[in-house]
Amino acid sequence: AKHQSVALIIGVTGIVGNSLAEILPLSDTPGGPWKVYGVARRPRPAWNDDNPTNYIRCDVSDADDVQEKLGSLTDITHVFYVTWASLSTEAENCEVNGRMLSNVLDVVIPNCPGLKHISLQTGRKHYFGPVESFGKIAIHDPPFDESLPRLDHINFYYTLEDILFAVVGKKEGLTWSVHRPGTIFGFSPYSLMNLVGTLCVYAAICKHEGMPLRFPGSKSAWDGYSDCSDADLIAEHHIWAAVDPYAKNEAFNVSNGDVFKWKSFWKVLAEQFDVEYAEFQEGQKLKLQEVMKDKGSVWDQIVRDNGLTPTKLEDVGNWWFSDLVLSSEGLLDTMNKSKEHGFLGFRNSKNSFVSWIDKVKAYKIVP
Ligand code: NAD
Repeated sequence: AKHQSVALIIGVTGIVGNSLAEILPLSDTPGGPWKVYGVARRPRPAWNDDNPTNYIRCDVSDADDVQEKLGSLTDITHVFYVTWASLSTEAENCEVNGRMLSNVLDVVIPNCPGLKHISLQTGRKHYFGPVESFGKIAIHDPPFDESLPRLDHINFYYTLEDILFAVVGKKEGLTWSVHRPGTIFGFSPYSLMNLVGTLCVYAAICKHEGMPLRFPGSKSAWDGYSDCSDADLIAEHHIWAAVDPYAKNEAFNVSNGDVFKWKSFWKVLAEQFDVEYAEFQEGQKLKLQEVMKDKGSVWDQIVRDNGLTPTKLEDVGNWWFSDLVLSSEGLLDTMNKSKEHGFLGFRNSKNSFVSWIDKVKAYKIVP
């Protein structure tokens, strides 16, 4: 079949990559029919197998592997870059993540004459800095909009943007877009930062141990406003920017368009796992990184007892990330720029939360 567009998803088993892999092949997706190549480092997992994509196992941090695995592709029209590597310092993040993006573009751009657009996902830390800078530098006051200047601290998101801007400038007609989600609600047992999946695993462990579901976060996160970015909505936002002329060569925030409080979502989570709900206790300081650190064998037991998809606790429980997100109220953004450019998509975050919990259960990642 002749395809109108050919996508290369870098990070196809990730939290947004998995949504892109599901949505792009659908018959009513804008810009289609799409042929889809999906790249990830590990062998293809069963939960990614339902998506009609050409799966390519490749480590994009290795230039030789990229040349070997992607060097023969000549029909790519759109790149969706939805991956990252987490190192211990931001200087290392800049170096490694910059190299990963360059490795891909150095091979794809010269080989693919029909390449039209590169869609890069970064995130809201564009506005408040990498974790190592928290509390050390002045940040912008939320709600964040896309016109705010960069912060005075290195950030691998800035490195990625600069690499992107340099390469697109060299090829006529090649366009770009940058997508900046906040905390993503989606599905991926391989993601480095999957809050919904992590909270599901925590709830399943509480249930198994007969413990109430205590909130592993701060009072301000419990009582204050938070927001999130639905992974399917982000995928739609990437696809919008890939095909709509009004979205070219711009950076956009991407979030659901509503706010919520964790104290209300906590009740939802407790109900979904039929586990006892606990009110926030004054002075309570619970860190999942501490309370979950020795639960590997408990998790293995839960997986065995319930016939779940085999996973490792360190893959499905991103404790540090949950501790970070739940440490304070949300730093909100605004979706005005996306709306002004024609993207009117949104999600009801409560429905989004419940539907991703359903998916984690449906794929038997949790009981
Ligand atoms: P992810 O961790 O969910 O997925 C990454 C994917 O890339 C996986 O498929 C993984 O297998 C693959 N991958 C990792 N290293 C690879 C390599 N060397 N070669 C090939 N494949 C490799 O990714 P994500 O969370 O969607 O992150 C993409 C961007 O979004 C990052 O810049 C991240 O900071 C940002 N972001 C994420 C969140 C979130 O809640 N997850 C929130 C805001 C911003």
